Amino acid sequence: MIRLELSGEHTRLHSTLCGQCPQGPAGCCVSPPELDWTDIGRIVSLSGRGWLLEQIAAGNLLPASRGLELRRVRKREGPAAPRRSKCVYHGARGCTIPADRRAATCNYFLCEDAFAERVDGQADPASAASRRAHALLREVYGRWDRELAEAIASRPEGPSWDAAFLDWLGAEFERLSSASRGELAALAAPG
Ligand code: SF4
Ligand code: SF4
Repeated sequence: MIRLELSGEHTRLHSTLCGQCPQGPAGCCVSPPELDWTDIGRIVSLSGRGWLLEQIAAGNLLPASRGLELRRVRKREGPAAPRRSKCVYHGARGCTIPADRRAATCNYFLCEDAFAERVDGQADPASAASRRAHALLREVYGRWDRELAEAIASRPEGPSWDAAFLDWLGAEFERLSSASRGELAALAAPG
């Protein structure tokens, strides 16, 4: 069963199927997404600049050409299970970091199995609205990221991975999201 938690650009999709994921105990956290430029700006705008700097220093977030890669670790999900690679933030009970420190994809992505899951033999009533939310967020985040990537490519100093660069990304994220308020109105939290 799907639950759509509306919150504009911070909207989250939840599925009960993730608790018994057909892909295995770590679900899609075996292939964590990157934190791309918009994700980093989103985290900064949610008071996460210090956390990002700590995680970069700790080697859990690794500077990459399109943002930050999440470190992968090899762990067993049970005593008899084989070691598998997964996101550094995945623990025995799922994701160990709050939603405002994750890539937006971690919050709004659901796989086709989750969208197609039937509830009491019927199509999930939340499935169609959730698919629309997913498609809108993908489109908007992808566009913002392309715009930020162009702006970063034109900076002579490139990404400097210091507080000033992160603050700039946070301000850019706020500018982009506020310019898209109308487009995101369908995802506004109920008042
Ligand atoms: S979205 Fe799909 S693949 Fe990912 S954890 Fe949920 S059920 Fe598994
Ligand atoms: S940040 Fe959390 S939700 Fe995202 S891939 Fe890692 S463990 Fe999974």
